[in-house]
Amino acid sequence: MDLVIIDCQNDFVDGILAAENGCEAVENIVDFLNVKKEDLRVFYTMDFHPVNHCSFKEQDGIWPPHCVAGTMGAELHDKFYETPFSPSLENKYYKGRNKDKEEYSAFEAENGLGHLLREDLGETIYLAGIASEYCVRETALDFKKAGKDVVVLEDLLGYINKKDHEENLESLEKEGVGVQSSSRC
Ligand SMILES: [Zn+2]
Repeated sequence: MDLVIIDCQNDFVDGILAAENGCEAVENIVDFLNVKKEDLRVFYTMDFHPVNHCSFKEQDGIWPPHCVAGTMGAELHDKFYETPFSPSLENKYYKGRNKDKEEYSAFEAENGLGHLLREDLGETIYLAGIASEYCVRETALDFKKAGKDVVVLEDLLGYINKKDHEENLESLEKEGVGVQSSSRC
């Protein structure tokens, strides 16, 4: 299975924009990665902004500065480095690098080798990570629109607001995105 782990970076897990359930989501994802699965492939996405990104409050955006390229806040959480799927040049895909563009979706994310995420993924993809109602949602909808089967793993998500998160899952299901527990994988 192809698992896309969305934006589990320090700023979103326990930093300036810490998501609700972010630490629990990371722990659950790490547990999932540590149980051997024959066909698992893992893809990490990373929000990766210049210091003057348009989504930051100083530029009239709605977020505090976060995931600035080159800072600790932009790094993936340490716990992933202790799994069999350690983050690397090949499996880290960046988005949000253009200062003028908000980019919640990882559809156009690209790794350090210049590979596009959408070209490296198979036909069915599973999503986990942060934040449910922003980057996970937009990524799910874009890949669904592009014709992939998309499943969101509901026990592996962090969110900004619980009610919005629950509404997001209902809305995604209406759009044909699967929502299930990772225990069913
Ligand atoms: Zn961002």
